[in-house]
Amino acid sequence: MSLSRRALLAGSTAMALARPERLLAAELGPRIRLRLLETSDLHMFVNDWDYYHDKPDATVGLSKVASLIKAARAEAPNSMLFDNGDIIQGNPLGDYEARPGVLRPGETHPIFAAMNTLGYECATLGNHEFNYGLAFMDQALASANFPFICANLQRTDGQAYLPPTKVITKTFTAEDGSRHELRIGLIGFVPPQIMVWDKSNLEGHVTTTDIVEAAETYVPALRAQCDVLVALCHSGISTGPRVTGNENASFHLAAVPGIDVIFTGHSHRVFPGPDYANRPGVDAVRGTLAGVPAVMPGFWGSHLGIIDLVLAREGDAWKRVDFKVEARPIYRREQGRVIPMADPDPVIVAAVAQAHQATIDWVRQPVGQVTYPLNSYFALLESEASVGLVNQAQAWYTARLLAGTEHAGLPILSAAAPFKAGGTGLDSFIDIAPGAVALRDIADLYVFANTLVAVKLTGAQVAEWLERSCAAFNVIDAANPAPQELLNRFFPTYNFDVISGVTYRIDVTQPNRYDNDGKLVRPDVRRVVDLHFEGRPIDPQQSFVVVTNNYRSDGGGHFPGLDGSNVVLRAPDLNRDAIVQFIEAQGTLRTAAPATWSFARPRQRLQLRFRSAPKFAALIAGRTDIAAGETAADGYTQFTLTLG
Ligand code: MN
Ligand code: MG
Repeated sequence: MSLSRRALLAGSTAMALARPERLLAAELGPRIRLRLLETSDLHMFVNDWDYYHDKPDATVGLSKVASLIKAARAEAPNSMLFDNGDIIQGNPLGDYEARPGVLRPGETHPIFAAMNTLGYECATLGNHEFNYGLAFMDQALASANFPFICANLQRTDGQAYLPPTKVITKTFTAEDGSRHELRIGLIGFVPPQIMVWDKSNLEGHVTTTDIVEAAETYVPALRAQCDVLVALCHSGISTGPRVTGNENASFHLAAVPGIDVIFTGHSHRVFPGPDYANRPGVDAVRGTLAGVPAVMPGFWGSHLGIIDLVLAREGDAWKRVDFKVEARPIYRREQGRVIPMADPDPVIVAAVAQAHQATIDWVRQPVGQVTYPLNSYFALLESEASVGLVNQAQAWYTARLLAGTEHAGLPILSAAAPFKAGGTGLDSFIDIAPGAVALRDIADLYVFANTLVAVKLTGAQVAEWLERSCAAFNVIDAANPAPQELLNRFFPTYNFDVISGVTYRIDVTQPNRYDNDGKLVRPDVRRVVDLHFEGRPIDPQQSFVVVTNNYRSDGGGHFPGLDGSNVVLRAPDLNRDAIVQFIEAQGTLRTAAPATWSFARPRQRLQLRFRSAPKFAALIAGRTDIAAGETAADGYTQFTLTLG
C-alpha cells in the first residue's frame, strides 16, 4: 500500500489502484457497504439564517445538512457521522454564546444541542475552537454527547489534551444480510498554527506538533487495532513541498501508510471539485489524495461530505474493494440564483430556537448613525470607507489606552483588512446603507473574534508590512495593453492590510516582494511606492505604534516583523468592540476616513479585469475608469478598471 501511494505521489493516477482490487473482490466472501458522513467548518451556522443582514440564507445551515444526513442514511445500509471542527465560532450566535455569563455551567451549548440530535460518532477540533480560550472550549465541548479526539495537541507537561485516537466497534450488515462487527479507527488533527493564531489563549498551556509526524506516531498502533482507519483532519489540501508544520497537510497525510479515508476541511472549499484540478497526485473528480479517498464539505453547512466504501472479507482483514466520494450540496446556483436542495430539519431548528432569537435581539441593538455608505465593493481597488472606519476606530481606541504610558508620544498608525470583499461568495460584501447602524452591521464589518493589539515598529517595518499585503494583486505586464486579471484569487482578502496614518501607492506592474505565503522572494523590488507620513517620505528609522489584531501581531499571515515580540498593547476588548465604542462615542459618523492608498499611475494605459457582484455595476455609475461586462452563470459580473 505504501509503495503504491508513493508512486501515486510521483504523479500517476488513482485509477490504476482501483481496478485490480475490484477483480480480487469477485472471489471474496461477504461485502459490506459502509457510508461515512462528514460535516466540517459549521462555524455556528445552525439555522439557514444570515445574522448580519437579518434575513434567511439558503446557502448555510446545519438544519439543512441534517436533512441531507437523514436522506444519506436512508440510502445506505450502514453509516457513521463525524464532524471535522471549526464548530463553536464564526457568527454572532457563537459570539453571543461566548459572552461572559451566557452559557451557564452544565448548560448545553446551542450547537451541541443541535448536533446531539444527529448521532455524531466522533469529532476533531478546528483552529477556531480556541478563539474564546481553553476554558470556554472545554465548557462547550463537555456538552457534546460525542467524543472529541486530537493527536497533535498536548498540554505543556506532554500529556495529550484530548485522546489522540479512538476505536469504535460497530456491527454492520453485509450485502448478503450477514452481520459483522468492525472496528473503526479514528485519529484527529488540528492545524499546528493555533499556537500563533491564538497565542494569547494557548501559550503556556498547550503545544502542537506537526500533523504528519503525529500521524506517524499514532497510526501504526491504531492500524493494528482497527479494520478501517479514518483520519479527521481539520486541514486543507496543499500539494506543495512537505515542510514540518504544514497548515494544509491532508495531501501529505495521505502518504502515511495505513490511512483508509481522510476527512479534510479548514480551507472552506469543496473536494472533489474543480478547485483542486490538475494537481499531481490529486484526483479532483473521483476524490482521492495520493490514492486515498478524501472529501471536503465546503463551509457553514454548504455541503455534506460522503465517502462510500465497499469492504470485502479477505482472510482476517476487511479490504476496501471500491469507493465513491461525494460533496453533496444544500443548494445550487442557476444564473446566479440560489436553488435550495434541502429543507431545514425542524428538530434542529427547535434545538437552537431560544439562543437563535436571543442572538437576533442582541445584534439588532442600535449602535449609532452613519451619514455615508459603508461598503467593501471597492476595497481592493482604492481606499474605501468600511476599512477606513475600522482603521479610525482602532486608532481612536488605542490613543486612549496608550495615553500616559511610555508609548504615548509615538504616532499611531492602524492596520485593517477587508474581511468580506467577495472572496467567499457573491453575498460576502459589506453593504451598509446610510442611516442607523446596528450591532449586526459591525459584526458583519468585523467578523472575526480578534482582540485588539498594538505593536511598535520602525518606518522600514511599516513598508515591509504593506509589501506583504500587495500579493493580493497579480503582477501586471506594464507593456501589455490587453486586459489582464488584477486580483490574485488565492490571496485571502483578510491578509490585505490597509494601513492608515500614512499614505502610499501600489505599483502592480512590479513583481511581488513577498509570495502568497509571506516569504521574501524578491528583496530587490518594491510594489509600495510614495510611502509618506505627514506628507513627507517615511523615515525608515522612526518609531510608530501600529494597531492591529492578535492574529496579525502574533504571526498570523506570516507578515514580516510580526511574531508577537514587539507588542506594546494587548487590549481587553475585541477589535469589534473598539468599533462599537467609537461609533457610540461619535453618535453619528459624518465624514468617511481620509484616503490612504491608490494604485500608482502606470506609464501606459492598462486594462485590469476583475469579477464582482452584479450590484457593483450600480455603484460605478458616473465613473469613467470602471466598466461592467458580462455576468457569468455563477452570478459574478466581469469588470474592467482602466488605469492611466
Ligand atoms: Mn473554518
Ligand atoms: Mg479552520
